[in-house]
Amino acid sequence: MRTLAMKFGGASLGTASSLAQVLSIILHECKRWDQLLVVVSALEGVTDMLLEAAQLARLANRRGYRRIAATLRTRHLAMVEQLPFGATASNALKADIDQLLYEMLDHCQRVADGQDDELTPSMSDAIVSAGERLSARIIAALLRQNDICGIAVDGTDLIITDDVHGNANPVLSSTTRQVDDILLPMLERGIVPVVTGFIGATEGGATTTLGRGGTDYTASVLSVMADAAELWIWTDVDGIMSADPRSVDQARVVPRLEYREAAELAYFGARILHAKMIAPLAEHAVPLRIKNVFKPQQTGTLVTNESGDDYSAVKAVTSIQALALTRPSSGSMAGITKMVGNTLFDTLGMRSEVMIASQSANSSFLCLVIPTSIGIDGVDRLQRAIKAKMAEYPEKMPWTIETLTLVTAIGQALNQSPRLLGAILNSLDDLPIHGLATGPSDCSISVAVSQADSRTALSRIHALTIKTGADTG
Ligand code: ASP
Ligand code: MG
Repeated sequence: MRTLAMKFGGASLGTASSLAQVLSIILHECKRWDQLLVVVSALEGVTDMLLEAAQLARLANRRGYRRIAATLRTRHLAMVEQLPFGATASNALKADIDQLLYEMLDHCQRVADGQDDELTPSMSDAIVSAGERLSARIIAALLRQNDICGIAVDGTDLIITDDVHGNANPVLSSTTRQVDDILLPMLERGIVPVVTGFIGATEGGATTTLGRGGTDYTASVLSVMADAAELWIWTDVDGIMSADPRSVDQARVVPRLEYREAAELAYFGARILHAKMIAPLAEHAVPLRIKNVFKPQQTGTLVTNESGDDYSAVKAVTSIQALALTRPSSGSMAGITKMVGNTLFDTLGMRSEVMIASQSANSSFLCLVIPTSIGIDGVDRLQRAIKAKMAEYPEKMPWTIETLTLVTAIGQALNQSPRLLGAILNSLDDLPIHGLATGPSDCSISVAVSQADSRTALSRIHALTIKTGADTG
């Protein structure tokens, strides 16, 4: 039995016409594979709106979150109206939409009624989970309308996670059990499960989320557990790009990558993939394709354990925010590392990773990656929490904190080529570098630069991807 898993991201689920495109892709692949597994994100922009509603609820701004719920209702109902549903399907969907938004409002209400102005991550997860539940129901109904037995499945029934709300990790043993009990029998019966990405539940049944962009992670875990032959990620760009096209005009598709390279790309800021999604695929050698939903005939990017190249080259360059801590004297870094680690965990439920640590006779420097999965306001929250902690012990914590950008060049065996490393550093020319690191993965080198210099650093390193011929793929 050959199973294909396909994930459709929010960018491919914006409008009724993009849903028609998604449908035609599913209809096409249905004929070519024995079993299909579909994992979906919320419609484009919906998660951001739900997060905003959660914040408004925290501020007890009842009009604010009700307005968002009303906008979401109008948008999803309009989508249903524009799709070719019969009356029964359309009415059932409308009832589902109302029910899900009613539950979302109920959660907001409870936050707004709460004593303090805290929004717990578990409440936020409960509110934000509505997005994927809404989209999965619409897509499953669309499949049924077209004679495919599509059934919406909530990720909360499949992905069992730890209780790190906002950035949860699947517990593999329990998730395997759920997949065996619920998902595999569906696939065997020719059903196309349309699973909500991004969301899971603790053993106790509380809704969790896997971090921003977490639908990739859901798709990756389920692909492995369903023994899929391939996982295809459908998005609105042509594949993994050599740089973010918003920062580098010359950015272009990289046709092939190794898992290691893709993992570094995701970790160091390429938002197209969730940082944790590559490891399960690499471990089970499930090939990954990234394709443009609006140009399905294009090959996109293929990620496997071979890159198809036998030379080292810079293939791509990424950037990600980093937290830099500096102190005007040398000394133990253990205390500050522990404090930042604990604060990161308490605020965002994440483990910190020190990327660069360096020390001279008269100063110390630490640089930590801020994962993109924490979202924009996560950076802010973290910085505030660290500053507050430092203020408690000013004598022990003579550190200043700032955000820098970590620009990372990626390419196989990069670290084994001093010529290439030299070329990368040379290209930066006059840009001050605050720190430098090459990773044990062998295929990346990161430089910490000021935020103001990051665009220039990206373009200059990107110029090397062209010179070293990485585009010959
Ligand atoms: N809808 C979620 C987000 O916007 C998850 C995802 O799209 O992968 O982050
Ligand atoms: Mg994504």
